[in-house]
Amino acid sequence: MALIQQSDAALQASGGCAQPLTLLRERGQREVFCGLTSIVWLHRRMPDAFFLVVGSRTCAHLVQSAAGVMIFAEPRFGTAILGERDLAGLADANDELDRVVEQLLERRPEIRTLFLVGSCPSEVIKLDLANAAQRLSRRHLPRVRVVSYSGSGIETTFTQGEDNALAAMVPLLPHSEEESLLLVGTMADQVEDQLCRLFRQLGLSRVHTLPPRCSTDLPPVGPDTRILLCQPYLSATARALQGRGAQLVAAPYPLGVEGTTAWIQAAAGAFGLAANAVQPHLEAARQRGHQAVARYRDQLEGKRLFLLPDSQLEIPLARFLHQECGMVLQEVGTPYLDRLLMAAELAQLPTTTTISEGQHVDRQLERVRATRPDLVVCGLGLANPLEAEGMATKWSIELVFSPIQGYEQAGDLAELFARPLARRQRLHF
Ligand code: SF4
Repeated sequence: MALIQQSDAALQASGGCAQPLTLLRERGQREVFCGLTSIVWLHRRMPDAFFLVVGSRTCAHLVQSAAGVMIFAEPRFGTAILGERDLAGLADANDELDRVVEQLLERRPEIRTLFLVGSCPSEVIKLDLANAAQRLSRRHLPRVRVVSYSGSGIETTFTQGEDNALAAMVPLLPHSEEESLLLVGTMADQVEDQLCRLFRQLGLSRVHTLPPRCSTDLPPVGPDTRILLCQPYLSATARALQGRGAQLVAAPYPLGVEGTTAWIQAAAGAFGLAANAVQPHLEAARQRGHQAVARYRDQLEGKRLFLLPDSQLEIPLARFLHQECGMVLQEVGTPYLDRLLMAAELAQLPTTTTISEGQHVDRQLERVRATRPDLVVCGLGLANPLEAEGMATKWSIELVFSPIQGYEQAGDLAELFARPLARRQRLHF
């Protein structure tokens, strides 16, 4: 473990904030879900796509249990199981894969995009899914496009599955010279509708989304595209879009009233709209959001919060819970720290914040036990043991599945953290 106390100059040089923050770098045992988990929200987002995991029975069980069992519905994900013969190199895994894909596409004529999702086993046997996707695309286009990305759990966390999927779509996007705003990252449809309505009120009419709601409705990209990230874990996608000439809008993330306001202001500013022209359009929604958050402030204010690294949402959540709910930040863990994408968030954290990057689960748990926070945000596997030790916990994965962005959801977001505290208080009685 390395302890790095960053100076103002170092953070400014890295595009970060002008505040000293303590950064712990940790490398050790990790307790996180793998990237296959993101199939759960991606397959709901694009109903004309199918996600075919090329992996083991373990991978199949993970996706199936994360997504819930759909006995009567035709699921839009599945697993091509690599058998012992494939793993031992006795069968040609490419031939097997081609056969499985043929069968699938014959049985499911509605599929328009097929994602081949790599896993730990397919990476270990070095199955080249990028090549397989090109070969299968040549065979099945124009009806079906085949795209590949990795959802493997080797050195990645579960939200990076979405990052890899979106980055794999970037080369497919049509080129455009037109000015447009591209919202990047999956949000619940109703949240996206609310935010797009606000952008339209501001006069921004060419707003596109990645991922699109229909996998073939690919948004255009070019030098006049401004990228506005909706999720903080899209490092590879942001850089791939920049590689296509698009410009990244520096902004915090739309969590909480202030985060949403700054996010919208940043996008509007990128199109030359002044803050005082934008503010009146946001005021009613801001008021509603503030009132909704205020209902939970009493329960959250002054409570000590410890976030273990899991979803990559931790830094924006910490900013919201400190700034708008008055929580005290004991430690903010993040699977990795992308200073470019986190600069606007880091700038708003208190100077005393300790950020830990990466995971060494034993050391982190030692610090949790030593400080006994009021609330620990962590992965599913750590929550039960910590609850048994008398600590209130919140599952980070729940935050990825819940609609939490924007003004109308700010109160619900605060409630998600107030609920475990209230439950523990009731149990006390
Ligand atoms: S991809 Fe790796 S970590 Fe994920 S379920 Fe499969 S074997 Fe496990």
